[in-house]
Amino acid sequence: MNDPLFKAHCKDTFPREFAYKPLPGESPLNVVRIRQVNSLDALNRLINTFSNRQGLYVSVYAYSMPANPFRHLIYDTAIIDRLYFDFDSKDDLSLAIHETSIAADALEDRGIESIQYFSGQKGTACYIDFPPTEIAPENKKDVLGLVWDLINDGMGLQLHTLDGGSVRGDIARVSRLPNTKHQSGLYCIPLEKSELLRGAGNIHRLAQKPRRNFDLEERIKENIRSNSTTVPGLLRALEELIIIRKEEAEETKSKLIIRKSQNTRGFVTQEQIQRARSFPISEILGNKKMTRCPFHNDVIPSLSIDHKRGLWHCFACNRSGNVIQLVMKLEGLSFKSAVKKLGR
Ligand SMILES: [Zn+2]
Repeated sequence: MNDPLFKAHCKDTFPREFAYKPLPGESPLNVVRIRQVNSLDALNRLINTFSNRQGLYVSVYAYSMPANPFRHLIYDTAIIDRLYFDFDSKDDLSLAIHETSIAADALEDRGIESIQYFSGQKGTACYIDFPPTEIAPENKKDVLGLVWDLINDGMGLQLHTLDGGSVRGDIARVSRLPNTKHQSGLYCIPLEKSELLRGAGNIHRLAQKPRRNFDLEERIKENIRSNSTTVPGLLRALEELIIIRKEEAEETKSKLIIRKSQNTRGFVTQEQIQRARSFPISEILGNKKMTRCPFHNDVIPSLSIDHKRGLWHCFACNRSGNVIQLVMKLEGLSFKSAVKKLGR
């Protein structure tokens, strides 16, 4: 049986990874656990071999076709088209529901739309769909780590159930397919926002059976449209930040090497950079977590500040950085001059 939700979930864009979790008591060796699927037909054929539809996952990213067809699982060619946030409460579904709706509202305030899911046990999830966005392979993991930071503490939400390990570690590569079962016997299903808010009991009732009346394809298309500039822009801005950090690290390294043989005059040392970095952003932009952005004509506060880590990001104009980039941009200074100014 071909479920329309599988097609919608995969946006009919392949290849993706298919993963299967061995059931309790089943040998973990008797199946291919992760496999590349190149078409919807192949995915449906594979799913139909699991008559119980339990523990089935598919990657939240599509991949570009590897040049070498024999290297069938090449993660570093990922083209990101979905972000995935997993809220797992361990024992209280209501807490996950609460935090999922807080995160969804906060994202919406910043022009980012998401779809909520019940994941089959004590968890709910938020999916953000957007047009395929290429991030350089070497930056991909760092960029997704920063996205997680933004959601978790950059927006000042203090979330307790947001699963960090899967996103920050090897990034959340796979997620449960909608309309397939968790081992609890409940189905993973997409939810309307109103259904999410009607509470755990209602969601458990809905999840007794696969969801047939939900137009997931249309919802995902709407999401891609709403997020078509914000999310790719955000990802590219964060990649820029990663590149700046790497360049700074390189600059510091080479300056330290030069320092060994000559006077430090004219160069900034690692200690100076550290001192500059520790300059509180609050002394420049105030101590709020969201404030008006000085780099564009900001009507509502769009600039998010992570005071603890000394990072800022504007959701509207997509500029971002640490305190050094802030001073560079505000005062038109070079990296060196900004470091010296902040280090005083
Ligand atoms: Zn801005």
